[in-house]
Amino acid sequence: MAKRDYYDVLGIARSANEADIKKAYRKLAIQFHPDKNPDDSSAEEKFKEAAEAYEVLSDNQKRQRYDQFGHAGMGGGGGGQGYGGGMNMDDIFSQFGDIFGGFGGGGGSRSSSRRVKGSNLRIRVKLNLEEIAFGTTKKIKVFKMANADGVTYDTCSTCGGSGQIRRVQQTILGAMQTAATCHVCSGAGKSIKDRPKDADAYGQVRKEETVEIKIPAGVGEGMTLNVSGKGNAGPFGGVPGDLLVQIEEEEHTELKRDGIHLYYDLYLNFVDAAMGASIEIPLVKGKAQIKIEPGTQAGKILRLKGKGIPDVNGYGSGDLMVNINVWTPQKLSSEEKEILTKLRESENFKPNPSAKDKSFFQRVKEMFQ
Ligand code: ZN
Repeated sequence: MAKRDYYDVLGIARSANEADIKKAYRKLAIQFHPDKNPDDSSAEEKFKEAAEAYEVLSDNQKRQRYDQFGHAGMGGGGGGQGYGGGMNMDDIFSQFGDIFGGFGGGGGSRSSSRRVKGSNLRIRVKLNLEEIAFGTTKKIKVFKMANADGVTYDTCSTCGGSGQIRRVQQTILGAMQTAATCHVCSGAGKSIKDRPKDADAYGQVRKEETVEIKIPAGVGEGMTLNVSGKGNAGPFGGVPGDLLVQIEEEEHTELKRDGIHLYYDLYLNFVDAAMGASIEIPLVKGKAQIKIEPGTQAGKILRLKGKGIPDVNGYGSGDLMVNINVWTPQKLSSEEKEILTKLRESENFKPNPSAKDKSFFQRVKEMFQ
């Protein structure tokens, strides 16, 4: 099933501001809250779908990526991994629990302290043109913080397990209570009771892990894919952060890319240009044979439809433009000079551009239409 547009899920306009997004999500979260809809799996799906949309649209960076690249920009490549069922109920309550207001944590069955989210992990991935054109799956080794086995927890003695430290301040308006995230447990409400020797104060160890990253076709230099939940583990058994994959593009030796289109400079010798020929040109994958008509002028552009790069959101593919140049020999033997001297006098060798030979200006104009 195709993933729904996040704006449609929340029922808001693309121009919606932060407050609109929060309001729309709160309404849906309360409507489909599991406490109100026990044992209703379709309500649970809607609850999760709304949380996923809210997670992206409430985060400026993620929202920008989503606006630009759609679901593909979220690392799903059409909904395979990462997002799309990526959030479980615990994630939702730990991250957005405060939005439910009166619902609180669901009748006290859920702890008031939150599960702390791990930090995001950033990596760069270098791709060649073929990987970009067809999409690829990369297996990459990353070092990340993981929760060690055999860690046991106590209640944080600093905040008493609430994850927050409340202070009462006397002001001219009277006593005011302020709450801040507990600096000792980062809001988790826990402390480490026992940990293996190699684990740090958060109960974590640095570990090498191979992650599989699905890269959709059509990505480009500088684009960042977001793989949800593949970053560092959250301290005190919290939820993992995200893996942010920044794309680097390896330059192709012959084909130049501009967005979805590719450009190739073809050099013909003037015999082929005059007499016509069949010439082999490189494609992203493999080669193609193209027909050069007799009397082809330098500057002509041949357009190979669909042989460019697919649009990252699946809106078709670009073209390959073959720019024809005619190569002028730079050294000549005496024999060649003799032949060319005879040709110089020939009537057919006098330049005689007709109105139908398009000017440089016209060709450039047509290319950008
Ligand atoms: Zn604490």
